[in-house]
Amino acid sequence: MAHQQFQTEVRQLLDIVIHAFYSDREVFVRELVSNASDALEKLRLKQLTESAVYEPERELRIAITTDEEAKTLTIADSGIGMTEEEVVEFLGTIAHSGTKKFLEAAKEKGGAQDLIGQFGVGFYSVFMAADKVEVTTRSWQPDAAPVHWVSDGQEGYELEAAPADTPRGTSILIHLKEDAANFSKPDHVRYVLGKYSNFVGFPIDFNGEHLNTVQAIWMKNKKDVTEEEYTGFYNFIAHTEGKPLTHMHFSADAPIVLNSVLFVPEENPEMMGFGRTKPDVALYCHKVLIDSKPDKLLPEWLRFLSGVVDSEDLPLNISREMLQDNSLLRRISGIITKRFIKHLTELAKNDADTYEKFWRGFGRYIKEGIVTSWEHKPELSKLLRFESTFTDAGKLTSFADYVSRMKENQKDIYVLYGASRAQLEHSPYLDALTARGFEVCFFTEGGDPFVVDGLMKFDEKDIKAIDRAGLELPPMEDTAPDAPALDETAAKTLTDWVTEAFKDKFSKVSTTDRVTSAPAIALQAENDLSPEVKAYLRAMGQEVPETHPEIAFNPRNPIVLKLAELQGSDTELAKLLATQLIDTALLRAGMLDDPAALAENSQQLLEKLLNK
Ligand code: ADP
Ligand code: MG
Repeated sequence: MAHQQFQTEVRQLLDIVIHAFYSDREVFVRELVSNASDALEKLRLKQLTESAVYEPERELRIAITTDEEAKTLTIADSGIGMTEEEVVEFLGTIAHSGTKKFLEAAKEKGGAQDLIGQFGVGFYSVFMAADKVEVTTRSWQPDAAPVHWVSDGQEGYELEAAPADTPRGTSILIHLKEDAANFSKPDHVRYVLGKYSNFVGFPIDFNGEHLNTVQAIWMKNKKDVTEEEYTGFYNFIAHTEGKPLTHMHFSADAPIVLNSVLFVPEENPEMMGFGRTKPDVALYCHKVLIDSKPDKLLPEWLRFLSGVVDSEDLPLNISREMLQDNSLLRRISGIITKRFIKHLTELAKNDADTYEKFWRGFGRYIKEGIVTSWEHKPELSKLLRFESTFTDAGKLTSFADYVSRMKENQKDIYVLYGASRAQLEHSPYLDALTARGFEVCFFTEGGDPFVVDGLMKFDEKDIKAIDRAGLELPPMEDTAPDAPALDETAAKTLTDWVTEAFKDKFSKVSTTDRVTSAPAIALQAENDLSPEVKAYLRAMGQEVPETHPEIAFNPRNPIVLKLAELQGSDTELAKLLATQLIDTALLRAGMLDDPAALAENSQQLLEKLLNK
């Protein structure tokens, strides 16, 4: 028997590990099972590449046994095993770079007890729960002697020859500390295995019985996974019944090894009043759980997804802190996000009904994505759905379809914001567009102006809100040349008078052919804040700057003709009438700050007219 000292770093690490929080201890099971799985994987590779492997017929399995009386837990595998030199290197020094980093972080912080649960510290984590560990191992190499390693995790370890009949692989016998004796209780160990090791790719025998593990379907070729398997897996990971609305299965070997399955649930829980959804995509490294709910794995707007992202390029023992600030993880996030957007794009193309269902349940997240993920804006804008002047009520269209229907002389894409289709259908702003045969998109959800204005363009075409000043439309043949209208002089007299009568209220007063159905329209001046932004600022308790809309009169409207006349003869009545027309226009534009004033003016106007 030879006594050997641990390397200094190992002793430092063990010192931290031994004082770990009680609640963190269970991760040692994950570490040892993942080592067993790695060892089996490596053996499988040896079988392919080496001519001779010890005990070639031995099955590749993991065997876990508990002994409550003896207070032990044993985790054994028939994997690659270790030679004596390997044992000395792997279980006596810090061979792993991740562990080294952990130690550095711990030193920097002057203690890292609180990090252990998040870091996997590899093999040495067993000393969180053990006061003695025995490792018996035999290498795959036919002529290697089996070895037995024992340590109490203090100063060093004993090494001796193991019995000649030791089978290939590694068996780790854990003598549990008094206060960690629950790891010798079958129920507790089964629970811990269920938490971390559900997807291990080798059969696990637990106290002689085969433990049902769930297949890591994300590691399979998607051609080999059935619809039922996806649903079953979804039910398992999302703790839910029923089918997902859609799923994406994505694998890549370059530039990063990535395997992922993501599900969109049938219903949006946020819409059912369950509050903000928490991200539910788990991060795995080669089928072993790293973090079941990593915060920053995918962008916030994808929080409705559940599923798995697996990358062999990630170290298993990565801390949550490192996860938040990991460039590899950011790249993974970017790749998955892009791929998921592509999935939705294809869904929209190939299965419009399902996509429409998705849109009605989850469209708001796409809008959130447009506002928050600028790099994905162009692709996300293709996923937007809305109604328009060309669709029947309740039917949806897209910008791409809109563009395909654009008239030859139409340069821009036209949109209008409001509370409902019913309201927008009667909007005077539509007149000029309808008269030209141009389609107008209706956006009726709260944040839409932020989303759509933020897009600015689609397919190189400007997106223009038709209730803004400065809207340039192609000229139109005069459709009613003979109808009475204000001539140029009369129009100027009227607009000059209104400008004067409402001094400093409007940035411009004019006549326009943009409106045919109403006497006047109010237009948001180019540098003014939109009504939506003003409402937002008001809601945030911030100061709201004054705005100066433009007012445009319809020179063919009989009331306007009358107004032009009155303005020269009965200024008082003219002022009441002008106020009425203007406030109504402002109201329709959502720009009337004080509706009570409109009511009062109506009353005065009526009184005046009735007394005439
Ligand atoms: P990691 O698994 O990240 O390399 P660990 O501390 O978990 O770090 O393990 C250290 C090394 O010990 C492993 O890389 C492996 O070479 C060896 N080892 C651990 N457990 C086993 C096992 N069950 N069979 C064979 N080798 C093992
Ligand atoms: Mg390991």
